[in-house]
Amino acid sequence: MHTLDAFRRSGTFFKGNLHTHSNRSDGAHSPEEVCRRYREAGYDFLALSDHFLPVYAFPVTDTTVHRCEGFTTLLSAEVHVRGTSLGETWHILAVGLPPAFEATRADETGPMLARRCRAAGAFVGIVHPAWYSLSVEDAQSIDSAHAIEIYNHTSAVKSDRGDGCALLDQLLAKGLRLSGFASDDAHFHINDAFGAWVMVKADQLDPERLIDSLKLGHYYSSQGPLIEDITIQGSSLEVRCSPVSSVMLLGKASRSECAFGDHMTSASLPLDSISKGGFGRVVVIDAHGKRAWSNPIWLGADA
Ligand SMILES: [Zn+2]
Ligand SMILES: [Zn+2]
Repeated sequence: MHTLDAFRRSGTFFKGNLHTHSNRSDGAHSPEEVCRRYREAGYDFLALSDHFLPVYAFPVTDTTVHRCEGFTTLLSAEVHVRGTSLGETWHILAVGLPPAFEATRADETGPMLARRCRAAGAFVGIVHPAWYSLSVEDAQSIDSAHAIEIYNHTSAVKSDRGDGCALLDQLLAKGLRLSGFASDDAHFHINDAFGAWVMVKADQLDPERLIDSLKLGHYYSSQGPLIEDITIQGSSLEVRCSPVSSVMLLGKASRSECAFGDHMTSASLPLDSISKGGFGRVVVIDAHGKRAWSNPIWLGADA
């Protein structure tokens, strides 16, 4: 996974939401209505990820009929079995599942279920960790995960527990190579949509290509700002973006570098101390407090 490849490789950044619910589980609206709302809000794609539970007859909601010119969908589900260390039900996102994905089994654990999702071709994410106090050990046990959900909008709106960056940083510090995505997890019972999304670089707007790019980490996440380019030039990291007030490079433990200003569209940050930690990730914040997050960049001896 080479984050900078998202900016180097050819293709287009497509805007999408990876985590959403319809009335096939506990969301307010039909799949058709949810797709319509995202399409009309300017999204290029949507993963409708209903809760894969017996009470809803284990849906992998079929959104293929809602694909049209300029808008596609990824067949997905949020899968669950019992058994986090605090005795709660696991919440694991699987983007890119076959429609006939088999129901969960009574003896299946979270790690087993996540492995089965990955083996079926899915991009696997550990979602809203702060919302249910998921531990570092729990997260580490999901050994087939591609990514951590670093921001969950509905959790931020409803419980002020939207963060996943703290967990991602702990796992990166342990040497795990995971990416991080932001999403809405919209249910539409309250105003919980269009708060955070991913920008995925792909050759074309095609479900398979998008899922391949997600697995490779060829994407970034945003609440508004655009990250236009990130490059390494000698001993500094160069960032180009839409106008922001802060550009940060965050590394292992307390390592961080930052640049502050008004309407900054570029910044140059020193790499020396960050590289010693093995990784860094870029965060930009605009004048309204809206953030965009790069995926981790492997540096130094780990690059
Ligand atoms: Zn959930
Ligand atoms: Zn959800």
